[in-house]
Amino acid sequence: MLGWADRYRRLRVRTNADTPEDCVTALQFGAQGIGLCRTEHMFFNEKRIHQFRKMILAGKRNARLEHLRGLLPYQRKDFYKILKTMDGFPVTIRLLDPPFHEFLDVSTKGVEELAKDLKENKKEVTRRINQLQEVNPMLGRRGCRLGISYPEITEMQAEAILGAALKLKREKKNPKVEIMVPLVGNLEEFLNQKNIIIKTYEELSKKHKQKLSYKIGTMIEVPRACFSADKIAKHADFFSFGTNDLTQTTFGFSRDDVGSFFPTYFEKGILALDPFESIDEKSVGALMDEAVKRGKKNNPVLSLGICGEHGGDPKSIHFCTRIGLHYVSCSPFRVPVARLAAAQAVL
Ligand code: PEP
Ligand code: MG
Repeated sequence: MLGWADRYRRLRVRTNADTPEDCVTALQFGAQGIGLCRTEHMFFNEKRIHQFRKMILAGKRNARLEHLRGLLPYQRKDFYKILKTMDGFPVTIRLLDPPFHEFLDVSTKGVEELAKDLKENKKEVTRRINQLQEVNPMLGRRGCRLGISYPEITEMQAEAILGAALKLKREKKNPKVEIMVPLVGNLEEFLNQKNIIIKTYEELSKKHKQKLSYKIGTMIEVPRACFSADKIAKHADFFSFGTNDLTQTTFGFSRDDVGSFFPTYFEKGILALDPFESIDEKSVGALMDEAVKRGKKNNPVLSLGICGEHGGDPKSIHFCTRIGLHYVSCSPFRVPVARLAAAQAVL
């Protein structure tokens, strides 16, 4: 049945995956690439999160660079494995987008270890941790705001991604890398990160005497980006709609806190559907449509996708077909549903 569906659908179906295991599962379900690899998820094991915290808490740039050097081999190896598993399929790897509160919840023992490794006293480490705390972490120094504040983080990630792809090319594989900048609201933010990626590529390419074709694009996940889409499209290879954040910022609903009032909203009929599950076509959908029109006008070959949770929701998939997206990306287990819904949308 899915074979029949594939004959009719216009949308390609990719997956959201951060590990080679997820990639294998998704390929078995018929995924045609990765639409979102969240690199912050690669830092969540104990050893790496410690290294990440040292980097972010380092007082001086030189110290931060040293800790980043420590993270580079891990990242390169992760990307190598993912690109190898997905050989020949497009893989969109997103630059770091960590809400800080998920990384700075450090235990007393953790503070002690950090103090030892950073050669600082515990009081100073606690002071730096407190300094980085934010009142509204989901709207704070996330996404490209981090890479703009600390360009060396973007440099390290670009080096790891492109380094892995170049290695695969030397091994006669066919890596199809797409580097994605998160939480962009205006052109300048995108160009800032794009320039770092290009510079890193040029250095690597010279060092290895090797060339690689790759893409650079952006998430469209805040309303401001939808209205800058015409400008950004001139410089981007692709847009991927981050409808989780786009819903959060359009409604002004905190993704992490809706549980406290949504049940009442549904009970009283204020909301008929959960907008985090199904695209609210009148608001979030209208913004997407606007961004697609503006984007296509200035870049007819712009690739358009969606990687928010809605990418696996049949009703939203119908909407994505109508506004002319090229692909949806969803969790591995929703790939078959997405293939079917994409065909039903056409029929
Ligand atoms: C999104 O915002 O829709 C998205 C895919 O990014 P994240 O969920 O990681 O914020
Ligand atoms: Mg997001």
